[in-house]
Amino acid sequence: MIANYGYKDGAGEFFISIDTEKCASCVEKPCVKACPEQIFYIYEDDYDDEVVGVRDKSRNQLQYICAPCKPSTGEPKLTCTEACTSGAIKHSW
Ligand code: SF4
Ligand code: SF4
Repeated sequence: MIANYGYKDGAGEFFISIDTEKCASCVEKPCVKACPEQIFYIYEDDYDDEVVGVRDKSRNQLQYICAPCKPSTGEPKLTCTEACTSGAIKHSW
């Protein structure tokens, strides 16, 4: 399942999507420790697999929370997507 977290406002669309099927087979879950803002958490899905989601309190502030990881120029490598070698994390902006 692709789980989407985020929002849309006048400034744009700010969503993080997570492919939870990949999380289910990811034992170490390095994204959780890698994110300096600790927005990821582990939960058990409907199939009793441990997967990762974005914390409730972070979901409507992603543009601001992730800003330090995203310089306005260039193509920065994000800490979270670098940590997730299976490519389960995608940012919409
Ligand atoms: S590192 Fe990627 S695959 Fe592993 S738990 Fe995090 S988002 Fe899921
Ligand atoms: S861009 Fe930075 S703050 Fe945002 S989820 Fe990734 S590691 Fe965390």
